Amino acid sequence: MSKLTDISYVRGVLSKHGFTFSKALGQNFLTNPGVCPKMAQMSGASDCVGVIEIGPGAGVLTAELAEISHKVVALELDKRLLSVLSETLSGYDNIKILNADVMKTDLKQLLKEEFPDGEAVVCANLPYYITSPVIMKILEERLPIQSLTVMVQKEAAERICAAPGTRQSGAISAAVHYYSEPELLFKVSKGSFMPAPKVDSAVIKLNILKEPPVKVEDEQMFFKVVKAAFSQRRKTLSNSLSSGLSVSKSVISDILLSAGIDATARAEEMTMEQFAKITELLTCV
Ligand code: SAM
Repeated sequence: MSKLTDISYVRGVLSKHGFTFSKALGQNFLTNPGVCPKMAQMSGASDCVGVIEIGPGAGVLTAELAEISHKVVALELDKRLLSVLSETLSGYDNIKILNADVMKTDLKQLLKEEFPDGEAVVCANLPYYITSPVIMKILEERLPIQSLTVMVQKEAAERICAAPGTRQSGAISAAVHYYSEPELLFKVSKGSFMPAPKVDSAVIKLNILKEPPVKVEDEQMFFKVVKAAFSQRRKTLSNSLSSGLSVSKSVISDILLSAGIDATARAEEMTMEQFAKITELLTCV
């Protein structure tokens, strides 16, 4: 276990560098010593699998990843943390810190340069303000990675992992299940962070699929359908599809009828196959 799991050591380094937490950057650093080693182990990092980490903070997860992987490349947006990280991670020669915004980084190029053999995973305690955009960026760009292991707010974890067709599912569940097989690994209480956030968190792992689980000719249309379906959760599927896609209600009713879907059904009752069927019928209109 690294010295970074010792909260008084981390506090000391942060205060020495005059660091104060930024709420806007989602800075809730992990202090529970049990979490990072477990998360690193479960991420799939190894001596032949490298890691891209997003938001190393003071380096607590970075150090654990570096203990088991041959190389960790971490992207940190906050310049103020660079001097902190060079002190806390000084004992490691297999970590590269880049001062970069994950949303503006060409991750495919980065992977090609840093992990040319193509064996890599992403692992991060994500800043909550960009949880979904980061996950969707990584999935949509079809990065050559094996998996994505991330800490997110507990409610977000449940929504992301919910199987389409179940009550908790949403547009993000369908998108995530299109690209990956998600698993909820373990929950983490809010007291495990400094400063403590208002809600509990959970670690999820998205195992990247080689092929999507449903065959879709027009992917853009598939995601438009999913988005429209969930845009007004309380409305019936036919109403939300009609207004969200600007297609007349009678056309939508015919499509639902031919797909064998009840006109009063709601988006959360739809399986991936049903979304794919609606997409296929819509592209023929
Ligand atoms: N990994 C550390 C830990 O577990 O203690 C810190 C996690 S903290 C929840 C999120 C980290 O992401 C912070 O260090 C924050 O500065 C960084 N961050 C925020 N927005 C970012 C962005 N767009 N790109 C890269 N890093 C970002």
